[in-house]
Amino acid sequence: MSENTKPRSPTESGCPDGFQYMHPLMRKNYGNWDHHDHPRPGVLKHVSKDGEPIWTVKCATQRILDTFSLRTLCDIGDNFADGHVHFTMRSNIEYMVADEAKVQPLIEEIEKNGFIVGGTAASVSSISHTQGWLHCDIPGTDASGVVKSMMDELIDEFKNHNMPNRVHITTSCCQINCGGQGDIAINVQHTKPPKIDHDLVGNACERPSVVARCPVAAIRPAVVNGKPSLEVDEKKCICCGACFPPCPPMQINDAEHTKLAIWVGGNHSNARSKPTFQKLVAAGIPNNPPRWPEATAIVKKILKCYKEDGRPWERMNDWIERIGWPAFFEQTGLPFTKFHLDNWRGARNSLNASNHVRF
Ligand code: SF4
Ligand code: SF4
Repeated sequence: MSENTKPRSPTESGCPDGFQYMHPLMRKNYGNWDHHDHPRPGVLKHVSKDGEPIWTVKCATQRILDTFSLRTLCDIGDNFADGHVHFTMRSNIEYMVADEAKVQPLIEEIEKNGFIVGGTAASVSSISHTQGWLHCDIPGTDASGVVKSMMDELIDEFKNHNMPNRVHITTSCCQINCGGQGDIAINVQHTKPPKIDHDLVGNACERPSVVARCPVAAIRPAVVNGKPSLEVDEKKCICCGACFPPCPPMQINDAEHTKLAIWVGGNHSNARSKPTFQKLVAAGIPNNPPRWPEATAIVKKILKCYKEDGRPWERMNDWIERIGWPAFFEQTGLPFTKFHLDNWRGARNSLNASNHVRF
């Protein structure tokens, strides 16, 4: 093969090595940390086995950052921290400083620029959300908008350690829920199967890709009005919305039938109890941009009950496990409806994961 016809070697080969971007003290003490504590909400102090301390100041961002905000945040890192930052999975930016005297001026500069310090320990950390409109082709709502409007209402819970333990909230813009689970999760819920625009299917879609996309094999090729199209077996359809990206004529997003649902008690950690799946507690909530007041009111109500009744260190799932699901619905005032029961035909295997039914 001549030099000119050689395939280009890949220029993108995964994440770069993170060590080169780390604060020198963190690099030096990698694997050598002794303990950490929380001098104040939003600030962590880690001490190495050799007695070297480093302070981390956590600052919330709106997640989808414009270049002006990003430059402002980086300038703060250069001028008031030690020039090293890192982003957390919940879209917080963290500044590291090796000198305690720099902590307070750094916090003042962050707040002067309109950002917020907090989100550590027993607070409501910033909400993590799925990729949304920026990267994905099937969102049924604007997950980042839900984050912004909810965190505006929960700002005091972000800035203070008021909760029994940390609270992780997630939002997802479709039922596939690529954002994972949390103590509280707000997910889109399509409530009806897709409506097919048959005139467009033949022009816009590769039918085999759409058929292959359905996780429950509910889509079949069909001929409608003499033209190749598709049909959906509505008894099988689980209204997931996965057929919409390869075939936009499979209309499933709908102002009336696309709703939000709230799930609670998801926990990946096995620190005090085993990991748990989140469970549905409120369904059919209006998908109501730009501020989603109905969903926010329910989240605030759940947080209030957890704050008042949770014992120190209990995560949301531990609290519910202790008081039981009937008490959870009584305390929060949320109605228990037929939608809380998993009536999917494969549910024999999963009923023990739903709220009230046990076999
Ligand atoms: S939750 Fe669904 S729509 Fe949103 S980014 Fe993930 S896969 Fe895409
Ligand atoms: S919404 Fe989901 S389950 Fe229903 S037809 Fe489309 S891909 Fe299949």
